Amino acid sequence: MYELPDRMRQRLAETVISPSSALGLNPGADEQKAIRMQLREISLKELTRFTNDPDEFGLWLDEQTARVRKAFFHRNKFIVDATNSETGHYGWGYARKFVNLFLADAARNRALIDAYKLDQMEHLFEVPLDQHVTDCLKAAAKCGCVQPVELPKWERIYKLRPEDSAEFQRFALKLSEGIDWRRHNLDLIFWRREKAQRKICAFCRPSI
Ligand SMILES: [Zn+2]
Repeated sequence: MYELPDRMRQRLAETVISPSSALGLNPGADEQKAIRMQLREISLKELTRFTNDPDEFGLWLDEQTARVRKAFFHRNKFIVDATNSETGHYGWGYARKFVNLFLADAARNRALIDAYKLDQMEHLFEVPLDQHVTDCLKAAAKCGCVQPVELPKWERIYKLRPEDSAEFQRFALKLSEGIDWRRHNLDLIFWRREKAQRKICAFCRPSI
């Protein structure tokens, strides 16, 4: 039997990887297929366990991230060597972004919201991080209109450290609460802002 939620999950796994979302990783067809297979394995059914348990959800999210990351093909720029504290985390940022894009899109999909009660869960979802989003977060942090905070330096997404990601996410949560949005939707505000616009706080100047 065909089940609509299963089909929707498969479709989302297809659309998450795009030239824009995978910019810089640029996976070929076989690698895209391998990543999509892992995204399709994300069990939305398990999520209801974490409704009131952000720590447990964080561990689950880390597991999904690790699984997607393992699907990446070898690259000289991020040799996944967990024993090397300088480079052992390389590639993690892409995997986390893909998982977060998948969850954010799922939380906007009526069939999946109904099937997996995602409306009870989505307050835990993270904003998918990339250069655009972190530029906008940094502009808001510098502005201080919500909370003045020093955010980590952003280099490249493949170099993103889990602990730096957590700092960006904590600040993003504050911002989203301030405008009564869900955190994972913030990239709809930040997405495709021109470079000059990304230096202006999106919360003090919402019309840009
Ligand atoms: Zn501001």
